[in-house]
Amino acid sequence: MNFIEQIIEEDIQNGKNDAKVHTRFPPEPNGYLHIGHAKSICLNFGMAKKYGGLTNLRFDDTNPVKEDTEYVDSIREDIKWLGFQWAEEHYASDYFDQLYMWAEQLIQEGLAYVDDQTQEEISKGRGVPTAPGVESPYRNRTVEENLDLFRRMRAGEFPDGSKVLRAKIDMASPNMHFRDPIMYRILHAHHHRTGDKWCIYPMYDYAHGQSDSIEGITHSICTLEFEVHRPLYDWFCEALRIHHPQQIEFARLNMTYTIMSKRKLLQLVKENYVNGWDDPRMPTICGLRRRGYTPASLRNFAETVGVAKRDNIIDVSLLEFCVREDLNKTAIRTMAVLDPVKLIIDNYPEDQEEEMIAVNNPEDPEAGTRTVPFAKELWIERADFRENADKKFYRLSIDREVRLKYAYIIKCTHIVKDDAGNITEIHCTYDPMTKSGMPESNRKVKATIHWASVKHAKKAHIRLFDRLFSVPDPDNCEEGQTFLDHLNPNSLVEQDGWIEPTLTLEKAMEIKHFQFERLGYFYADPDSTEDMLVFNKTVSLKQ
Ligand code: ATP
Ligand code: MG
Repeated sequence: MNFIEQIIEEDIQNGKNDAKVHTRFPPEPNGYLHIGHAKSICLNFGMAKKYGGLTNLRFDDTNPVKEDTEYVDSIREDIKWLGFQWAEEHYASDYFDQLYMWAEQLIQEGLAYVDDQTQEEISKGRGVPTAPGVESPYRNRTVEENLDLFRRMRAGEFPDGSKVLRAKIDMASPNMHFRDPIMYRILHAHHHRTGDKWCIYPMYDYAHGQSDSIEGITHSICTLEFEVHRPLYDWFCEALRIHHPQQIEFARLNMTYTIMSKRKLLQLVKENYVNGWDDPRMPTICGLRRRGYTPASLRNFAETVGVAKRDNIIDVSLLEFCVREDLNKTAIRTMAVLDPVKLIIDNYPEDQEEEMIAVNNPEDPEAGTRTVPFAKELWIERADFRENADKKFYRLSIDREVRLKYAYIIKCTHIVKDDAGNITEIHCTYDPMTKSGMPESNRKVKATIHWASVKHAKKAHIRLFDRLFSVPDPDNCEEGQTFLDHLNPNSLVEQDGWIEPTLTLEKAMEIKHFQFERLGYFYADPDSTEDMLVFNKTVSLKQ
């Protein structure tokens, strides 16, 4: 049991909140969700589900400048794709009227004031944690004056940045967030939902707890950096005498070879370092989806990572392990040759063709079989042949035998090279008695290789990915560097390969996840057309 479950179970036992559990996932619609958000989603929905409760989706849209409905739509899609359904959908902006009334209430009670100082003066006055701050000269305005000024702020009488509303708490508190935090700022900006109704906007600390409270949230789970905000979260709920949810903090998810900041991910997109938010190299949920990650693999990853109280960094190989494990159970097997060289079976009749029976998924008997055409000329992987093979190389070499998967045992006789010395043809003979069902079918050879019939195979476009960054912690920069200096210039390699002809566009789009035998897991990309299927490599078969 993790520490969050411990808190929740204790609350249930004590009958707190009528022993109910109600969580929320509160994204700011200013970017696409990433794997860190997936962790938070799994946690919030997971806790509610475990204790028979509900989870709300709340868009934390208090910052009109950076927000957009494009992001709202993508967030909704990603949560559903992960396999979760929220009970209620809300927007912090729906609470603007209520929040405004509460602000007037705090002014009436002498707990908030309008400050005319500039941003610099305010932060200077806050001082440093080790010494008390300085009170604003406007701190002791009368209730009447504060109410009048606040109403005129709302009415649009003052320019941006000329005034703020601050809570009147304690300028000497060792917690800097307690030194008269800003509740409202003036911002003449169009909001994607409220339009031009407002020209003052609440700050995160003033909006978040109250939004939780309004929705009857019981446990408000957030990341560790909000721990120092918790006293303020509590203060507003107490001062307003409203339902008081409990904020609980856990360590945010960090992962090697990638970044998690929406601002930086946006920069990668805007400045074309990647091909959009759903570029398969991105740590975004839509990027991982296009890479071929499955919802189950991401949920399993979140579960395996668990919840921590201290910041840490998770190795990306754990994520890869999770998707491998899931796809091994479900992905349909296919033969594809990505770096082809021609194999010619000299003793195979010129015009003969056979249909070889191939297993769709050895892990799942119900997935059945298919047939793959076989003929005299085949493509095999260049790496499966070696001219000067030592004892440790078990695959094809002159005078050695291998099995062609689902077909025959062959023996290499000679090779043909071009003027530059590149191998252009590998010649071999086959043993007809070694086909499955034939007397020699059980004969043991040291290796089995995959193939595609030259006459039948279909060309496909393959995208291979490496890590987006070349160092484990791209945010760790030397002076004068930024995370951009750590981008891996070879993170995308595109090439053409040969795949089984049975794979039509319709079938590829329906099945989506494939294991290219011996090569790895691949995902049929939406860029595919009737003429050319496009596959993204999800992950290799082994680490
Ligand atoms: P960024 O700083 O990149 O903009 P954010 O934390 O501001 O991210 P929000 O949209 O506010 O993004 O996040 C919504 C929820 O997801 C919050 O509760 C936040 O704590 C959580 N979250 C964000 N990033 C992570 C992460 N890396 N690990 C776990 N939870 C996260
Ligand atoms: Mg945030």
